[in-house]
Amino acid sequence: MSKNFLRFEMHTHTSESSPCGEITAKTLVETYHKLGYDGLIITDHFRPKFFDQYGHLPWVEQMAIYREGGRQAAYWGEKLGLKIFWGLEIRFSDVAAGDSRVNDYLVYGITEEELLAMPELAHQTLRGFSALARKMGWLFLQAHPCRSPYSNEDEGCHIVDPTLLDGIEVLNAHPVHLSNNEKAAQEKARNPQWLTVMGSDAHFVAGCGLAHMDYQAPVNSITDIVKQIRAQRQE
Ligand SMILES: [Zn+2]
Ligand SMILES: [Zn+2]
Repeated sequence: MSKNFLRFEMHTHTSESSPCGEITAKTLVETYHKLGYDGLIITDHFRPKFFDQYGHLPWVEQMAIYREGGRQAAYWGEKLGLKIFWGLEIRFSDVAAGDSRVNDYLVYGITEEELLAMPELAHQTLRGFSALARKMGWLFLQAHPCRSPYSNEDEGCHIVDPTLLDGIEVLNAHPVHLSNNEKAAQEKARNPQWLTVMGSDAHFVAGCGLAHMDYQAPVNSITDIVKQIRAQRQE
C-alpha cells in the first residue's frame, strides 16, 4: 500500500563534504533508513572558507569535492529505497545587512547544473544571494536563526532583515548547540509571511532523526518539496 505522507529530514551533513560532519553518507542514509524515514536532504556547508582551500582547482573540481557526500548518499539511498535530494547550508562573505559571521542559511531547489554555472556563489553576499534566489525560484531560509554563541570567537546567530528571507528554520534539533527554538518561534509569529522548516542538523549518529517534516505523496524531486513548503502560505 502506498503511503499518503512521506517523512523527510531537511538538514544533514556528511563527513565527506562538511569539515564538522562526523558521519559518512553511507551511515547517515542507513541510520535514516532504520528510523523509518522516506528520504533526506543533504545540506553540507557551502562556505567561502571551504572553497578557498581548493581555490587552485577549477570550479568543477571544487564542486566535485563539495558534492561527494551527496553523491555517496544518493548511491546508498538508491540501494535502500530512500529518496536523497540536496540543498545547501550557505554562509556569506560579508557581514552587511545585519549578517553575523556565523549566520547560516538553508537553500532548497538549487540544482547541480546551476551551481556549476555560477562559481561566484562561493563568495556571495547576503543581499546578492537573496535577490538571486528570488529570481531563480530557490527557497532561502535562515538556519537556526537564534542560536547562541558556542565559543569566545563566536558571536551567535542574528536574524537578518526579514524581507531578505523566504523564512526560517523554526526548529533546529541539534543536540549540542543551543538553538533557542522558542525565540525562533516568536520571530515567526512576528513575521507571519515567513515559511518554516524543521531539521535535525545531523552531524553524527545520535543527532539523526530528532526532527522531520512530512510531505504529501508523491514526492519525486526537491521541487515537489519546495512547492509544498511554499503552499504553507495558502494554508
Ligand atoms: Zn556543521
Ligand atoms: Zn547544519
